[in-house]
Amino acid sequence: MGNTTNPYSMVRSRVLKVVKETPTIYTIRLKPDREVPFDPGQFIQLTVPGVGEAPFTPSSHYRKPETLDVTVARVGKVTDRIHQLSPGDEVGIRGPYGNNYPLEDFRDREVLVVGGGVGFAPMRAVMYGLFDIVSSLAKLLYRGGCRNPSELVYREEMSRWFDRDDLNIVLTVDEGDETWRGPTGVVTTILEDLSLDFESAVAIVCGPPIMMKFSTLKLLEMGFSDSNIFLSMEKNMSCAIGQCGHCRIGPYYCCTDGPVFRYSQIKQYPNIWD
Ligand SMILES: Cc1cc2nc3c(=O)[nH]c(=O)nc-3n(C[C@H](O)[C@H](O)[C@H](O)COP(=O)(O)OP(=O)(O)OC[C@H]3O[C@@H](n4cnc5c(N)ncnc54)[C@H](O)[C@@H]3O)c2cc1C
Repeated sequence: MGNTTNPYSMVRSRVLKVVKETPTIYTIRLKPDREVPFDPGQFIQLTVPGVGEAPFTPSSHYRKPETLDVTVARVGKVTDRIHQLSPGDEVGIRGPYGNNYPLEDFRDREVLVVGGGVGFAPMRAVMYGLFDIVSSLAKLLYRGGCRNPSELVYREEMSRWFDRDDLNIVLTVDEGDETWRGPTGVVTTILEDLSLDFESAVAIVCGPPIMMKFSTLKLLEMGFSDSNIFLSMEKNMSCAIGQCGHCRIGPYYCCTDGPVFRYSQIKQYPNIWD
């Protein structure tokens, strides 16, 4: 009969908690029947019975796999149903899939993390990983942007990040309101004055395609090497196991060769920002 391991088998999971981060982005805390260990950058496929499945990058701590958070923007059929989940509801998790950020290689280097919109979600798991090794990093900087203050996720937690001595953090919004005390403008405007050793520094970028494109161009202009810019790519994906070909980037499958790519690997392919 050969190998009968089913690559589509799922871990049954219960919804523990739903946090309404913004009107369109919710964080769902899940309790899987068995632990789902992952590394920052990897993704899972979340199945909502009777509706379908979609890929998400866990936004929780990779060292606490007994529960798993996904932070989900409502954009269509599956994500709309995910936003209707309540504590006690059952979903399925398969994975984790894909590669992860080589955080260990970042020791002794300056690390800049750039997040935009719902791209804060994968970056939260990355930040937990970087906080774990922060004493061995030369510098840790976070630059984040979203459209307006009501679109900002993880507000309470982010406000505590501002109190950390080992993190240099700036957040911006495209358009402020009477509550906003920080800078306004797109995220590239807060990359302007960074003082880093650009030849060896590492940048990690995650957000909507337009934000990733202009942030990457800005980082290159500043002197970052294209092989030191890491991108979390989010191509339309179906099987997640390198079979269907939906998520191709040139010769790569985003699901199995990514979703984390160095810009130098994929810069020559025309569809990377679509
Ligand atoms: C590796 C990976 C990690 C991801 N992590 C997260 C995450 O942490 N949080 C989060 O909110 N979203 C994440 N996404 C995107 C998420 O998977 C899609 O938003 C989701 O699949 C949409 O499903 P839907 O049925 O609600 O929308 P659909 O009804 O299928 O589509 C709605 C619209 O969204 C477009 N769309 C669907 N999937 C994608 C995609 N992957 N990229 C760009 N456009 C898409 C469709 O073309 C359509 O225009 C991730 C995607 C990938 C590939």
